[in-house]
Amino acid sequence: MTIQAVRGTRDVLPEEVGAWHALEDAARRLFPRYGYREIRTPVFEETELFARGIGAETDIVAKEMYTFADRDGGSLTLRPEATAGIVRAVIEHNLMGTDPALKVYAVGPMFRRERPQKGRYRQFHQVDVEAFGYQSPTIDAETIELALAYLDACGVGQHELVLNSVGDRHCRPAYVQRLREALQEKAPSMCADCRRRAETNPLRVLDCKVPGDQAVIDALPRITDHLCPECAEHFAEVRRQLDLLGIPYRLSHRLVRGLDYYVRTTFEVTSDRLGSQSSVIGGGRYDGLVKDLGGPDAAGVGFAVGMERLALLVPSPGGRARCDVFLMPLAKAALDPALRLQRELRQAGLRAMLDPEGRSFKSRMKQADKLGARFVAIMGDDEIARGAWTVRDMARSEQQDVPEERVLDHLKEKANG
Ligand code: ATP
Ligand code: MG
Repeated sequence: MTIQAVRGTRDVLPEEVGAWHALEDAARRLFPRYGYREIRTPVFEETELFARGIGAETDIVAKEMYTFADRDGGSLTLRPEATAGIVRAVIEHNLMGTDPALKVYAVGPMFRRERPQKGRYRQFHQVDVEAFGYQSPTIDAETIELALAYLDACGVGQHELVLNSVGDRHCRPAYVQRLREALQEKAPSMCADCRRRAETNPLRVLDCKVPGDQAVIDALPRITDHLCPECAEHFAEVRRQLDLLGIPYRLSHRLVRGLDYYVRTTFEVTSDRLGSQSSVIGGGRYDGLVKDLGGPDAAGVGFAVGMERLALLVPSPGGRARCDVFLMPLAKAALDPALRLQRELRQAGLRAMLDPEGRSFKSRMKQADKLGARFVAIMGDDEIARGAWTVRDMARSEQQDVPEERVLDHLKEKANG
């Protein structure tokens, strides 16, 4: 039996990697315009960080984490999302001490033991954006605008922004209490998950996707009707600024997101081209998380982009030619000059390759074609006698004789010209 990739993981093959580079490059070009710099944190952390940060009653922490005992008895977890680790790093290095308005982004793999399906993996990748220390609704609007600008930069067409406010620690507890009361009557007729959530974490009921529960959920009390004046004002200003920027959105009182740390603004970007895993970006405000994890009482706003889903939405860049010059030493004595020339071409920044296996002329030409080689440089017995290379321009199907001492400059000029 050969060993296969673990269920829910996938290989990004050389053929596809160009698409991933394009998405990562777009992030690295765009985010600095908004003041963000990259941060890289470890893929595993103390389990406690996620239990405290994300919330013990969330699906992620309750059933999706890859947690394992370290050899010294400690408990470690592969990160299921990026925010908690970034907040840990911000606190540990006192990053807000030097920069009270801190903006960072990260790119990398996340791990959740969910049921694999199209657009849902157990190792997946996110581009993650976090701004710390900004109380103002302006940063909520800017963050949302950045999320959409990123999709734009990646070439994603049709999508929808969904927006909500989930209140804060002043108004949400009273709302959750109302929800709990309403659910006492309704929960017995709902799915098993909802019956459990009605007790443990009533907000999560709003996430339920079971068709039979939808009518009941739509009739439950709505958070947006129970916001405190401060949260209502914050939300109104976020919406006003989105209008100002000409950004359309749909309000959804059910958008509570799968992590407990969100307060006030939550948002998601969805695409109907993704099928049932329709959400490509999720984000919101998480004031209080930094403090909960032992840092200063600092605000936070951010979002995470699912790269596998994003990759499904962008046109593939197509196979790029991989070779500028393909060298063909056809005689034994041509090998050494070919190796020297190959090295010089690479040092000059050109992509040079040769076939060291000594296959037939015909099969080497095929190989050059497959690599998309722009030029082929041939040296057989005749060329050795003349002290020259035969250089073939593949696109023009022209070839010319180039003396050995001129060949490097000739190829450099041709390839760059
Ligand atoms: P979903 O509703 O699809 O489960 P989520 O609310 O769990 O998403 P977040 O935790 O906010 O998602 O993560 C942000 C983004 O990461 C999602 O919008 C999605 O694009 C992507 N994502 C989340 N989980 C997975 C997964 N298991 N496989 C691939 N992408 C994922
Ligand atoms: Mg999820």
